[in-house]
Amino acid sequence: TTGNTKYQGRDDRATSEQVLDPRTRLILFKLLSTGFLSKIDGCLSTGKEANVYYALGGTTTTTAQTTTKDPNPATATEYAIKVYKTSILVFKDRDKYVSGEHRWRNGYCKSNPRKMVKVWAEKELRNYKRLWERGVKCPRPVMLKNHVLVMEFLGTSGWPSPRLRDASLNSKRMREAYVQCCLILRHMFQRANLVHGDFSEYNALWHNDQVYVIDVSQSVESDHPSALDFLRKDICNVNEYFRKAGRLEVMSTRQLFEFVTSTIIENTEESESLALDRLMEEVEDEREKLEGKSDQDRLKATHEADVAEAVFMSQFIPRSLSQVNEAELQRMEKGEREEDYVRAVAMLTGNQEVVDKLGGEGGVSIRVGGKNKQVVFEENN
Ligand code: ADP
Ligand code: MG
Repeated sequence: TTGNTKYQGRDDRATSEQVLDPRTRLILFKLLSTGFLSKIDGCLSTGKEANVYYALGGTTTTTAQTTTKDPNPATATEYAIKVYKTSILVFKDRDKYVSGEHRWRNGYCKSNPRKMVKVWAEKELRNYKRLWERGVKCPRPVMLKNHVLVMEFLGTSGWPSPRLRDASLNSKRMREAYVQCCLILRHMFQRANLVHGDFSEYNALWHNDQVYVIDVSQSVESDHPSALDFLRKDICNVNEYFRKAGRLEVMSTRQLFEFVTSTIIENTEESESLALDRLMEEVEDEREKLEGKSDQDRLKATHEADVAEAVFMSQFIPRSLSQVNEAELQRMEKGEREEDYVRAVAMLTGNQEVVDKLGGEGGVSIRVGGKNKQVVFEENN
């Protein structure tokens, strides 16, 4: 609208027209007046839960009496500033990420939206920190003031790097990006014990020919009771995107899930890329095998693959439940859980020690992966 093509990726009206609440204004004002920032210049994104602004650092050249700020994108440090919205409604459906997270058992106040967004901002900062420290490509977190998160700007001289979905990659780059996404999911899981929880082509930026992960406020510890369900969803998003938009031959959900969680694959770049190469080869072999076949055989194979995939998707994952075991036992001791229930969980996860310890007759119905499952008890000897 301004005719200024250089800042195509930013909306220059947004800072003036999007009304900031007084608290946010005060925080931003302080960042400017202390010289930490020299300029907040345009909006990178307006979202449901947060707005992201572009800013320049106060590269201060201090002479004896004066401090001059350098508002030149070519020389000043560029930042992205994520400002969480303090409206109560949008954060309501985020409950599922927080309940069950041992890190957030205290200090999460549902009735106070300002405290709540502060918790989300803190969560994002900590997750970014952890990822950054463990070498997962993401913006470097810089500082947090209440619900205002300052981080490294991913872009060049004012141009924000595109989201994966807008990056219009050629097929060679697409394949590279796919492999990098698989590695990001694995590294998040193995090195940082985190599951993204909202990974997709919208929350990955294509920066300097590489995939960077963003938007990690809802990421959960890998021992969160739903962590593996979230991971499965993340994997589906990645596969879906690269299969459809990237026209790529992708792994099955199961293959990628196993790649991410496998402890047999060593956590070295060498053995990870070896494992990935092998998996991608398998995928290509599978496709080649089908090429010479009749339509009917191909249909049959596709159907079989679909069934296998559906089975995997609906299967409950022992690992997430085995981690629930311990928590359930503790709840039982506090009288918050029936013994029957805990015994059923232990049976389903094959925890014989717990099964033997607990009594109970008949059976019980418990919910596993969103479905009711009838568990019948055997005689205890
Ligand atoms: P939301 O919760 O609104 O989805 P995100 O963290 O995904 O928030 O950020 C929204 C958008 O802002 C991103 O899609 C991206 O375009 C832009 N953005 C976020 N962080 C950065 C960054 N560090 N550098 C450049 N652009 C960013
Ligand atoms: Mg996002």
